[in-house]
Amino acid sequence: MAETAHPIIRPRSEHPVSRDAIDPDALKVLYRLKHSGYRAYLVGGSVRDLLLGRRPKDFDVGTDARPEEIRALFRNSRLIGRRFRLAHILFRGGKVIEVATFRGRPETAEPSEPADDLLVVSDNTYGTPEEDALRRDFTVNGLFYNIADFSVIDFVGGLADLDAGLIRTIGDPDLRFREDPVRMLRAVEFSTRLSFAITPRDYAAIQRHRRELAKSAAPRVTDEIAAILRGGQALPTFLLLREMGLLEVLLPELAAELSGIDPGHSGGAGHAFWSLLEVLDAERRRGRQFDDVVSFAILVWPLLRAAVRRAGRPSPEPALVLTRLNETADSFALRLALPNALLHRVKAILFAQEKLRARPEWKASTRRLLFQADFPAALDLFEVAAMALGRDLNRFREWDALRHRVSQDGSGLASPPAPSGASAKPRRRRRGPRRRRIGVRRTN
Ligand code: ATP
Ligand code: MG
Repeated sequence: MAETAHPIIRPRSEHPVSRDAIDPDALKVLYRLKHSGYRAYLVGGSVRDLLLGRRPKDFDVGTDARPEEIRALFRNSRLIGRRFRLAHILFRGGKVIEVATFRGRPETAEPSEPADDLLVVSDNTYGTPEEDALRRDFTVNGLFYNIADFSVIDFVGGLADLDAGLIRTIGDPDLRFREDPVRMLRAVEFSTRLSFAITPRDYAAIQRHRRELAKSAAPRVTDEIAAILRGGQALPTFLLLREMGLLEVLLPELAAELSGIDPGHSGGAGHAFWSLLEVLDAERRRGRQFDDVVSFAILVWPLLRAAVRRAGRPSPEPALVLTRLNETADSFALRLALPNALLHRVKAILFAQEKLRARPEWKASTRRLLFQADFPAALDLFEVAAMALGRDLNRFREWDALRHRVSQDGSGLASPPAPSGASAKPRRRRRGPRRRRIGVRRTN
């Protein structure tokens, strides 16, 4: 890995990062470290985002103070991590500022050893700021903001790549992607999020090593996918993952199902999937939050539809859907590392979709659905699908109205659902105790 003996230092007068844009608690942490005689830098994604005028997700701090020294400086801190210890400084509202001692070179196997041994196994040595920068993933993620003089320090060429709009691996991409194949996913994610191009050199390296993504620890891959689904750019990211052959490695069944079916094609499960992602993204960008269970269910959706379709029934009965759902969701969960509880919920909300397509009638099955813990998530998915497919919107409104009535007074089911044609016959009122029990369940 080429080392830059002299970093580029861009003084405050030559970059746009103002302290006003930095989280006040992160500033407190930086100043306290500095006043205690340590180096204190903002590091990673926050410096990148501040330079781009974007609002950072989190503010991470790098320092030459050792974990025990950080712990001693901040009463509101705790040390986490076994292999490499970091400090979490806790602030009001659950905010966490992560402070890490500069890390040295990871102990990878020698390049002369077989490729299989390149995965980083041990990662726990302290180092200089330069070493810390060099072990980061992409040049735009390797910049530091120095609280001592408000300058930006660049050991890796990140400033030039920020200007050029490029995602470029720090060091040799063949080596860096093999060390940690999750970086391939990250390259795609940053490329779509920032509208930056992946350098041709890195693009080619990803093509060469994409199969190694299957070797990464499943929970890390799952975390990255969850982050992609939350980011408001899931559609372009999944399209690029497919283009680069990464989707095929990650979720082969999904890739096969989507093969050749692009957004904009009419009909087919593939089309539905891209439309669902498009709606999910648009809603997220408007600031709406979704439970992760909704977005993971969207990933399973095309597989389930295909499996039910293959069974050859125009209108599938619940038992068939349930069987196919179990098969599809279980094989999907094996590839990713979905916790059992989440998998169970994914199945529950997918299974609820067929039921939501029916008019909410005044009967026990409606109540059971309404008071299911995952009803709000199931209805969110139903709404996303209704918007994506342009169907069932009225049905969604009926269920949504019912949900509001129930949440307003806990007794929404004391009377029949809002008028909805023939089925809205007046029913006998339930007697008091039953109603109250429903209300109690609703409010906890
Ligand atoms: P985000 O805005 O999504 O939080 P980020 O760049 O801050 O983006 P994080 O996952 O929060 O990404 O990681 C923080 C920093 O840690 C990155 O900017 C990068 O410098 C470094 N980093 C994260 N993952 C890796 C990795 N797999 N290999 C090397 N460095 C990494
Ligand atoms: Mg971050």
